[in-house]
Amino acid sequence: MSDQRKNLTDKTLCTVAGRKPCLHGKVVNQPVYRASTVVFDTLEEYYASQKILPGDGITYGVHGTHATYAFEKSIAQLEGGYRTRLCSSGLVACTAALLCYLNAGDHLLMTDSVYGPTRTFCHSTLKRLGIKTTFYDPAIGEGIEALIQPNTRVVFTESPGSWTFEVQDIPAICHIAKKHGCITIIDNTWASPLYFKPFQHGVDVSIQAITKYVGGHSDLLMGTVTTTKEVYPILRNGWRDLGLCVSGDDVFMAARGLRTLSTRLTAHAKSALYVAEWLQRRPEVIQVLYPALHGDQGHELWQRDFSGASSLFGFVLKPAYSNNEQLAKLMDNLKLFAMGFSWGGYESLLIPVNPASIRNFWPRSNIPSGQLMRIHVGLEDVNDLLDDLEQGFKNLHS
Ligand SMILES: *Cc1c(COP(=O)(O)O)cnc(C)c1O
Repeated sequence: MSDQRKNLTDKTLCTVAGRKPCLHGKVVNQPVYRASTVVFDTLEEYYASQKILPGDGITYGVHGTHATYAFEKSIAQLEGGYRTRLCSSGLVACTAALLCYLNAGDHLLMTDSVYGPTRTFCHSTLKRLGIKTTFYDPAIGEGIEALIQPNTRVVFTESPGSWTFEVQDIPAICHIAKKHGCITIIDNTWASPLYFKPFQHGVDVSIQAITKYVGGHSDLLMGTVTTTKEVYPILRNGWRDLGLCVSGDDVFMAARGLRTLSTRLTAHAKSALYVAEWLQRRPEVIQVLYPALHGDQGHELWQRDFSGASSLFGFVLKPAYSNNEQLAKLMDNLKLFAMGFSWGGYESLLIPVNPASIRNFWPRSNIPSGQLMRIHVGLEDVNDLLDDLEQGFKNLHS
């Protein structure tokens, strides 16, 4: 069995990527390697091991085992990058990637729609290191050129954005960044490695919170950073310096999640579209923010660049239903939708979010005002989910 065959679809790749039964007793799954110590048989082998680069061989627990390398290779293959390195959470993937590619005195262009804790990192640690951040409108497209300064080193994107789901024109941004010698990073978590292929659109570095859809069962924290060949050495050395690694148990869980990713995402996406269209017809809702919907602000870019939509999106309640007392009536009696932050698992979630307090480019003039809600559609029967929401809306009126 080999995963080297060309032309496998993503669905098949999810099931075969990284598997090499011949390496470990012919069992189907990569076993758990709990390893700190690696031993060498001869003095020659011992000295030779010191010339092996971190990530290229099994020489030291922190740098990886068969299992970590197999999972790294799977993600690199699916995202279409050169190499991947693992770390303990999606947030670490974001912050460590920034630390790798930025130097003291550099300028960073950061999308205003970035995952909140990554934004905090810019205001705290990066500021402390003398790195200035300019937050840009996620709808900027090629207008990004006007913001590039002589010391701009990195353009960080996330598409669609956290909470507000603006789709970015990634090819246009990458084209201009490249022209000015800047590195582009994308937080590609929403699309998973399946629905957006960052390296086909000119991105240099792609981040996944494996915690979300790849893990898929709300029981795992992990992040990946995948790069092109050109910028990989910087990542490899940064990982070596920071000592970033993951546990053997966690990488087993991540690889296990990957096996069903494609099938789960198809089910998530189908239900999400159904729920989004249902919400559009609800009198309590003014707007649904989901790029897969015709007429959504990001629909055209999404249709051009993505091959699917995941199951996390937003909707805006009419101002008449947006005060906390009413919101509590909607939220407190839901049976299937729980209030929780970390999405991508099998279960449905619903939370009110308030981006205006931290954003420079929100509210947007083309989005009506009212309470913004973020919904994650899980793997429950979609009719049960609609019943639950319907009951919630009924309570809202009581
Ligand atoms: C959740 C999330 C992260 C962080 O992942 P953790 O593993 O929870 O740290 C990063 N980026 C995006 C877009 C996310 O949604």
